[in-house]
Amino acid sequence: MSFYFTLNTGSSSVKFALYKAATEPELFISGIIERLGPHARLKMQTASEQIVEDLGHVDHAGAVASIFTRVEPHLKGKSVVGIGHRIVHGGNAFYKPTELTSEVVQELEQLIPLAPLHQPYSLATIRAAKQVFPGVLQIGCFDTAFHAGHTFPNDAFAIPRHFYEEGVRRYGFHGLSFDYICSELRREYPDIANGRLVIAHLGNGASMCAVEEGRSINASTSFSAVDGLPMGTRCGRLDPGVMLYLMQEKELSPEEIESIIYRRSGLLGLSEESSDMRVLEHSEELFAKQAINYYSYQIRREVGAMAASLEGIDALIFSAGVGENSARVRSNVCEPLEFLGITIDQEKNMANAPEIGTGRVRVLIIPTNEEQVIARAVAAACSKSQ
Ligand code: ADP
Repeated sequence: MSFYFTLNTGSSSVKFALYKAATEPELFISGIIERLGPHARLKMQTASEQIVEDLGHVDHAGAVASIFTRVEPHLKGKSVVGIGHRIVHGGNAFYKPTELTSEVVQELEQLIPLAPLHQPYSLATIRAAKQVFPGVLQIGCFDTAFHAGHTFPNDAFAIPRHFYEEGVRRYGFHGLSFDYICSELRREYPDIANGRLVIAHLGNGASMCAVEEGRSINASTSFSAVDGLPMGTRCGRLDPGVMLYLMQEKELSPEEIESIIYRRSGLLGLSEESSDMRVLEHSEELFAKQAINYYSYQIRREVGAMAASLEGIDALIFSAGVGENSARVRSNVCEPLEFLGITIDQEKNMANAPEIGTGRVRVLIIPTNEEQVIARAVAAACSKSQ
């Protein structure tokens, strides 16, 4: 037996998972190093125990070695034969899982300006993994890849044409999650898998995707993962005039604006209380209620836009932390959409049942699993390279 490793790098955390190698890889150990910096902490779940350990100072570069030290005793002498990395941005060049050769890593470095808040961290993890696992096949899986092939209206901004040619495009993100959900639909709901689907990934990051015949045709995130829906701390769609106002009238620096739109907006900014939906749902404060209503309304509005781009809707799918667990948000989104054929059973909704729709449009809750998509890509690459 051998193992695959998956690494999912965020700005302040690295999630990892170890899989038993197979065409459909089987999860063996999962975990996260969070709060990277002076007070990093490891959480790890094996078949028999849950481990929490304060690690002291660990940065992105050191995270892979720390993870491997903790995981190695569980390998019992068996080897890791492939490593899969989640990479936020694949630009125009990478639209399927790709072996991370030195040339590819160099090309990914060129994409840093397109995702300055994410890409450098992924690259630091990739470099570290190449050192800790020399000679092991390393595969990059791109969040943008699922959205490759959008038609021009869903790929361009109406700004001078040369910016499009330079790569200022609507790329779309959360592709690994949407890819996983489509694979679950093929497995569990083959009758609708090729229909007109609207998928809402509602985690700390949130976005929606319109899918037809298993392919993304439209995404709510675009050039960056800050567009579209409001999120835990990101603002979502924003009039560019607001950015000009912040720069010209309020004389805010690019760093200050970045901090506002990425870290101080969304549910946190509106509620002035928390980015965490669980906290807001328990709050009696007016701002918390308004934040939930704003969030739900923007999702509903996006369902309408997605349905229009699909020329109809056969299924609405909720996923990720809020999508899988918040009956209130799902209810807020669905109740006013009866005109589209969307109605839900409140008892099933309260119970987070897999299927909650009662009308023409199927309404489903499907837990996402981005790591599984990465592990499958590693399995496919390993079988090709044998
Ligand atoms: P990430 O994008 O970091 O993977 P998750 O998919 O775990 O995030 O989603 C995190 C969000 O899900 C948080 O806003 C959290 O409050 C929300 N969430 C998790 N469980 C519940 C619940 N039972 N009810 C409402 N919201 C929940």
